[in-house]
Amino acid sequence: MAVAIIVKVDPVTPEKDKIRVAAEAIRAGKLVAFPTETVYGLGADAMNGEASRKIFEAKGRPADNPLIVHVADFEQLFQVAKDISDEVYKVVRTVWPGPVTFVLKKAPGVPKEVTANLDTVAVRMPAHPVALELIRQSETPIAAPSANLAGRPSPTTAEHVIEDLGDKVDVIIDGGPTFFGVESTIINVAVKPPVLLRPGPFTVEELRNFFPDLIVPEFAEGKEEAAIALAPGMKYRHYAPQKRMIVVENREAFRKAVETLSKSRKLIVLCSKEECENVKGENVTEIVLGSETNLYEIARNLFDSFRKVDKTEGDLAVIHSFPERGIGLAIMNRIRKASGFQIARSLEEAMRLAGD
Ligand code: AMP
Ligand code: MG
Repeated sequence: MAVAIIVKVDPVTPEKDKIRVAAEAIRAGKLVAFPTETVYGLGADAMNGEASRKIFEAKGRPADNPLIVHVADFEQLFQVAKDISDEVYKVVRTVWPGPVTFVLKKAPGVPKEVTANLDTVAVRMPAHPVALELIRQSETPIAAPSANLAGRPSPTTAEHVIEDLGDKVDVIIDGGPTFFGVESTIINVAVKPPVLLRPGPFTVEELRNFFPDLIVPEFAEGKEEAAIALAPGMKYRHYAPQKRMIVVENREAFRKAVETLSKSRKLIVLCSKEECENVKGENVTEIVLGSETNLYEIARNLFDSFRKVDKTEGDLAVIHSFPERGIGLAIMNRIRKASGFQIARSLEEAMRLAGD
C-alpha cells in the first residue's frame, strides 16, 4: 500500500472537515489510526468483518486476539452488546466516556473477526474529542486495538504509528501525544463477580467503589504469563523493546545491578528523575521516565521510553519498579510484560538474568 495520508488536527476542537477524510475511509472499509486518551488506535468499521480483518493483517496480530469496539453513544453500545444488567449499565453511564473497557455479551451482527469468535465483546467510549468525532462521522462503531505492530510498545504519538504502520494504513490522524499513555482498563462484567482483565488508567481502587466484589487475578500484576486466555491475547508477549530488559524490583539491588552490570558493557538504564540521580558511570545511558512523585507522568512516558531503548547504544536495559497503587498497577503490568518476565529482586538474580 502507498504511504498513509497524515491529517493533523486540533486535539481539543478537531476540525470537522479534516475528520471527514478519515470517516470516509472508515466507511469505505479502510484503516484509520487515531488518538484516544489512552494510546493511538488502529480503527476499522466494527460492523464490517472484511474491514476488521485488515487490522490483524496490518499489525501482524494473531487472529485469536480480539479487538476493542469503540462507540460514541449508548445506541451504538446496544448495537454491539446485549443482556447488560441494570447494575452494570448504571456504572457504564457513570464512567463513560473514559479509559475503561467493558467485556459484555455480544450482540448478533458483530462480525466474528472482531471478537475472535467469542460470544463476548469488549466495548469502550473513549474520552477524546478526535476519537468521538471520528466515530460520529463514520456513523458506525469502530474496532480498534493499539496502532502498533504486534508485540511492540503501544503508540502514544502519531510518529510512533508512522514508525510501525506508516505504509500499512490509509489515514493517520495526528492529534499530538495521548494523555494517559497506557491502554484502557479492561473489566469482564459478563461474569459474576466481575474480573479485572487488564489494569489501566481507571484504577482498581476506583473500580471497587462500583464493584466491591471485583476479582483482581495475579496476572493483572503482570507477574504470571496468563497461558489460559482469561483475557484472550494476554498470553502474548507485549509492549516489548526488541532488546533484553530486566526489571529490578528492589531499589538497593537496582543501584548495585546498574553499577555491576555497567562494568562489562554499555548499559541502558530506565529510571525516574529521582532514581536517576543515583545512577552514575561512563558506560550508562539513562532514559528518564519522569518524576516519581507523579505516576501519571511515568505512565505517559513509558512506551516512548521502551521505544528509545531500541534506539540507544547497548544490548541490555535495566528498569526499576514503581509502587503498585493507582495507575502504578498498570505501569508495573506493562513493565513486567515488556521485560518478558525477567524480574529480579536481588543483585544476584539480576546478574543471573543478565547472564553474568
Ligand atoms: P489492544 O487494544 O491492542 O490492547 O487489544 C485489545 C485487548 O482487548 C486485547 O488484548 C484483548 O485481551 C481484550 N479483549 C478484546 N475483546 C475481549 C473479549 N471479548 N474478552 C476479553 N478480552 C477482550
Ligand atoms: Mg495492543
